[in-house]
Amino acid sequence: MATDVDHIVLGAGLSGLLLTRALLTDADRHRAGARVLLVDPRPAQGRRLTYAYWSRRPTSLDRWAVGSWDVLRVVARDGQTADLALGDWRYSAIDWGRGRAELLDEVAADPRVRLVAEPADRLRDGPDSVSVRAGGRWISGRWLYDSRPPSLSALPRRRARCSSQSLVQVFRGLWITSDRGSIDASAATLLDFSADHGDDLAFTYVLPTSATSAMVMAVRMGLQPDEPDPAPAVRRLVAGEPWTAVAEESGATPLLMPPPPRRLGPRVLAIGQRGGRVRPSTGYAVRRILADTDAIRRSLIQHGHPFDLPADPRWQRPLDAIWLRALSHEGADLQAAFASLVTRAPIDTVLRFLDGDASTRDLATVIGSLPPRPFIRALLPLRMGDGVGRRRS
Ligand SMILES: Cc1cc2nc3c(=O)[nH]c(=O)nc-3n(C[C@H](O)[C@H](O)[C@H](O)COP(=O)(O)OP(=O)(O)OC[C@H]3O[C@@H](n4cnc5c(N)ncnc54)[C@H](O)[C@@H]3O)c2cc1C
Repeated sequence: MATDVDHIVLGAGLSGLLLTRALLTDADRHRAGARVLLVDPRPAQGRRLTYAYWSRRPTSLDRWAVGSWDVLRVVARDGQTADLALGDWRYSAIDWGRGRAELLDEVAADPRVRLVAEPADRLRDGPDSVSVRAGGRWISGRWLYDSRPPSLSALPRRRARCSSQSLVQVFRGLWITSDRGSIDASAATLLDFSADHGDDLAFTYVLPTSATSAMVMAVRMGLQPDEPDPAPAVRRLVAGEPWTAVAEESGATPLLMPPPPRRLGPRVLAIGQRGGRVRPSTGYAVRRILADTDAIRRSLIQHGHPFDLPADPRWQRPLDAIWLRALSHEGADLQAAFASLVTRAPIDTVLRFLDGDASTRDLATVIGSLPPRPFIRALLPLRMGDGVGRRRS
């Protein structure tokens, strides 16, 4: 059946842009001149966003790197610090605000791409084609990839009996400069539990790019977490010296359990966070989105459709569900478990576990490194009023 375009991509964020670029390069090489419709109501949003990820090999995102480290730091609630050497891994941070703008310019300059700067508000899916309505016009394609973010308001406000386990991760960060050059840029801080002592699980991460510049991001995870404040962690970082905030970053990510489905219809695939690529127990997504883009590309080349994607490992969903459930019960009391996870198991085992590449042995090591009590409590049957009042140990 003749369609207006071959591929429709909803959302020009991380997953939508990486996929659009892949579709234009070789994913659809069997159909020379594949046409792509890219729909996003705010394509040129110019928002500052820094994403961090670990990797052993170069990635297509590295060209926007603002920093790269071979040591990760973990700071316990009492201020005790552990430095973890990454071996052949690197931890990198990219300026995704710049990356997004450049990638958008690159794909929009391609004559095969049609960019519509309107919200996609309706879909019609069928056996032979799929159509989207954007800006009041219907446009048809062979395949549609949907990365419109899932709504935060759809999450339960209170933990009901037998409800899903979903939570929210809220971020607020500051890019700061310190005139005196006192910032230690030799390690990135993955988790610092010493600055926020509220009821929700909260931590700060620090991406120092020089002795005078760093991004300090405060994070809270919970059912309805208050916005975190990065300022106490900034003061700690600069050891009381004068500092200036030069930019802000903020956002929120739903941690969805059970993960949302991938295939939304005969011709519609959910990608990015809408397709469950945000790991619900951690909020990390960059590596999963990179891997997913490759898998979609392979599926199109091999089968002519985008749906032959590797399933997440079988252990991942139950472990993430227990972790999220423990998180909603224990809140800040789960800090010790987070710190144990990254400091007691070898770091490459932890990174494989976070990537979903853990062997049975890795899994045993990770589970053995965790304090059992909060997780045993999370496995106990749900009680009435569960999660409304938090259980304290
Ligand atoms: C502040 C913050 C920091 C994060 N840091 C990290 C990190 O360090 N490491 C990591 O691995 N992960 C991180 N994440 C998680 C994850 O990597 C990001 O959320 C990532 O952007 C998800 O990509 P996406 O394509 O699913 O969504 P997005 O990049 O958010 O893209 C979705 C796009 O859909 C568009 N859209 C919305 N409505 C419509 C509509 N109706 N029609 C068409 N388009 C629409 C939006 O304008 C947007 O451009 C972070 C998340 C946040 C919020």
